[in-house]
Amino acid sequence: VAKKQGRDLVKPFVPSMQEELAKRIRVEADLRAAIRKAEIVPYYQPLVDLKTNKIIGFEALARWKTASGEFIPPNEFIPVAEEAGLIVELTDQLLRRACTDALSWPSELVLSFNLSPIQLSDRLLGLRILKILGDVGLPAHRVELEVTESAIIQDAVTARIVLDDLVNAGVRIALDDFGTGYSSLSQLSNYRFDKIKIDRSFVASFETNDKQDKVIKAIIALGAGLGVTITAEGIEEESQLQRLQDLGCDIGQGYLLGRPAPAEMLAADHVSARLSQRR
Ligand code: C2E
Ligand code: MG
Ligand code: MG
Ligand code: MG
Repeated sequence: VAKKQGRDLVKPFVPSMQEELAKRIRVEADLRAAIRKAEIVPYYQPLVDLKTNKIIGFEALARWKTASGEFIPPNEFIPVAEEAGLIVELTDQLLRRACTDALSWPSELVLSFNLSPIQLSDRLLGLRILKILGDVGLPAHRVELEVTESAIIQDAVTARIVLDDLVNAGVRIALDDFGTGYSSLSQLSNYRFDKIKIDRSFVASFETNDKQDKVIKAIIALGAGLGVTITAEGIEEESQLQRLQDLGCDIGQGYLLGRPAPAEMLAADHVSARLSQRR
């Protein structure tokens, strides 16, 4: 035993680990307070039909604006919320807020909302989401939930129960960040998704990389074959948009088409003005 411990102790002392820990504890306490004060709110990024150039909906993206005016991105606080057991409360709050915002949009627009992988191993998630939609009065067909492959692989049985509850009620499911997980194709045949979102890492490099271009082309063909709508994320340049349109990609999202913006900025005329400026 001593030998085993001894070996563990050989690891060099890394001061930054202590700093990391201290930071984590601080962030966790701040996060708890932020949820209590509802300081974390959804921003909305437009999803654009690449055939008609019309906005078909918005993806809600969580933003934490601290009292000091600093923005903390979701990739930093969502993992903390998960580990600290705060993700259920945070999600309920964000979803309720997003659904309420969506009620004021034109009724054909969809709200797309991200779920964390660990949430899909919670059997009651589907029912809780449906309860929120019911409370707010947003029809299920106006809601799309974005999940990743890793979310489904973690606990496939529970994930299926949750997704079935949602799909049976009319909610649509999108497979987010497609291509970055490591068993992409198996999930496609295991579950019937309504939408596939091609990860932005593909879009970012596909014009300079001929193989990447072929991969995107193949994903679009796959979508057509499966009857699944394809969205490309992270469109930043006109040339990328053009190429995706040529390849027949259904939906686009990215800074070129619109950055995530707070609810107040979404007055329909504002966004459509931005879109037509581009043309
Ligand atoms: P995601 O769902 O893949 O969202 C797309 C991310 O790409 C967003 O980052 C968005 O702001 C960013 N993005 C959009 N267009 C462009 C572009 O043209 N260029 C570049 N470079 N980036 C672009 P964000 O908002 O920082 O969110 C990061 C991730 O955090 C999301 O990735 C999602 O997985 C997660 N997330 C965001 N909001 C929530 C939430 O409410 N709940 C959960 N569970 N996760 C969330
Ligand atoms: Mg997403
Ligand atoms: Mg994504
Ligand atoms: Mg992503």
